[in-house]
Amino acid sequence: MNKKKLPLAFWIFVGLVAGIAAGLALMSVPDGAAIANAYIKPWGDIFLNLLKFVVVPIVLFSIASGVISMKDISKVGSVGGKTVVYYMCTTAFAVMLALIIASVAKGAGLFPPLETSELQYTPPEGQSIMTTIVNIFPSNAVQPLANATMLQVIVISLFLGFGILLAGDKGRLAGDVVESFNEVFMRVMDLIIKLSPIGVACLICPVVAENGPKILTYLISVLAIAYVGYVLHMLLVYSATVSALGEISPLRFFRGMAPAMMMGFSSASSVGTLPMNMECAEKLGARREVTSFVLPLGATINMDGTAIYQGVCAIFIASAYGIDLTLGQMATIVLTATLASIGTAGVPGAGMVMLAMVLQSVNVPVEGIALVAGIDRIFDMGRTTVNITGDAACAVIISHLEDKKDARKKA
Ligand code: ASP
Repeated sequence: MNKKKLPLAFWIFVGLVAGIAAGLALMSVPDGAAIANAYIKPWGDIFLNLLKFVVVPIVLFSIASGVISMKDISKVGSVGGKTVVYYMCTTAFAVMLALIIASVAKGAGLFPPLETSELQYTPPEGQSIMTTIVNIFPSNAVQPLANATMLQVIVISLFLGFGILLAGDKGRLAGDVVESFNEVFMRVMDLIIKLSPIGVACLICPVVAENGPKILTYLISVLAIAYVGYVLHMLLVYSATVSALGEISPLRFFRGMAPAMMMGFSSASSVGTLPMNMECAEKLGARREVTSFVLPLGATINMDGTAIYQGVCAIFIASAYGIDLTLGQMATIVLTATLASIGTAGVPGAGMVMLAMVLQSVNVPVEGIALVAGIDRIFDMGRTTVNITGDAACAVIISHLEDKKDARKKA
């Protein structure tokens, strides 16, 4: 699996280098930036259009099928409930942490506005919190899909998933259709991701032609901030929860998790790391019946690292366009990124597609993905490591709680 994926990462990197080189070359040509915008950017725009087009079906089907995959919750009773609560709370915390450290970085001048020739930003009209909340709930089943109103699409897919679960036998056909479309659109997403090398080259070239090499230092900053977020989240949240709820020392936890973390880092795929993650979690004392439910579910719906990446990139991209996000917009990001993690597939590059959705939800130009797309793999390696570590932390904790419950019953 790795062997197949790595060449794409390599080609994306080649695309990035080629795009930067072409951008630098165009800088020295009179009207170079205009030429880049007129003849190279459109190809990048095609790639972005494809990313935008796939977001709605991906969210609709993958979140619904994420909910359907929780059908065993009733079977596993309290384990299921606790798992989902842990996953959702840690993900929401991850986005908040990301927004805080990225805002601090922005305040320190690390994320300055860039020259973007086509500023497409329309500031959202001032809205009260209540109106924002009311607007999350669609009054029409089709419009949100057509307009890509992401929070409403998420609500529709959650209802769809729960409806299918509640319909039992009669809902099975709908469930199969959703699963099948989910599979189909995952393949479509795969095809679009395969275009990344060309897309990345054509997107970064005009940006470099306009901004010059200083853009590269900003990229290093945003990458560094994301990694600070990854490390902080693991140290704060996983250390605290495994020691307080799982009664296992953080040092032992991270030492035991090292093989799976390295595997996650190199493969950038939670799903690919699943077998190794199960082994590590079980060596740390997690029960088989818990890992076999909690870890596959986590690889499907729990993405703390991805949420951190989305929070940091949202602030970085908004700032590149000279946009100051309001508290309300940040709250929207927390909500969308947390729910988006249900719909993010545990495969390389999926988080970047979902970033398009997060940006759309707060009206930040999706074009901004151009800035970070070229180095997505480096973000992805870190975020996958966090994703799988969070899944294992949950498995260890839930197992321990179950052990305690059993001991109490016996006593
Ligand atoms: N690659 C990540 C994972 O497998 C998902 C993402 O792209 O954020 O967990």
